[in-house]
Amino acid sequence: MTRTLVIAVLALAVAGCRQDPGLAPKASAPRVDALSVLLALPMECEVHHLQLERVVAPAVYGLIDPGVHRALAESKQFPHNGAVWFGGCIPGRSHWAIVRQCERCREGELAWERERAAAGRPFVFDAARRARVWALYEGFEAPPTLDAASAPR
Ligand SMILES: [Zn+2]
Repeated sequence: MTRTLVIAVLALAVAGCRQDPGLAPKASAPRVDALSVLLALPMECEVHHLQLERVVAPAVYGLIDPGVHRALAESKQFPHNGAVWFGGCIPGRSHWAIVRQCERCREGELAWERERAAAGRPFVFDAARRARVWALYEGFEAPPTLDAASAPR
């Protein structure tokens, strides 16, 4: 199981940014409907069984390699941390993303980061760095406000 996950992460890291001309959107292809994407997202955390809340997170583009330890911990302990959204290699139109977050996942992520830092192996994209990204992005574009009445739950 672990070996399969490691191979999958490595394969994604190697092939993640390669442009496949067969999969590239054509000019005449319909655009992805953002509402459909939001409705397809999970509503409950599969680890903590809490309802996920919509939050705004910085959208970070590029090939970000969080490392195998982080990927394994995130998948098992805090899959819906919601602190940042990694948007892939091709920059999107916004510096912000609306993601679904679990409160316990968020706490679990921060606890994991504290444990790593205490062991002398801090996570490279930790809360302090995310705060700096947030502040930088606010200078570029105001984060969207979420209107509970108009957005899908
Ligand atoms: Zn959770």
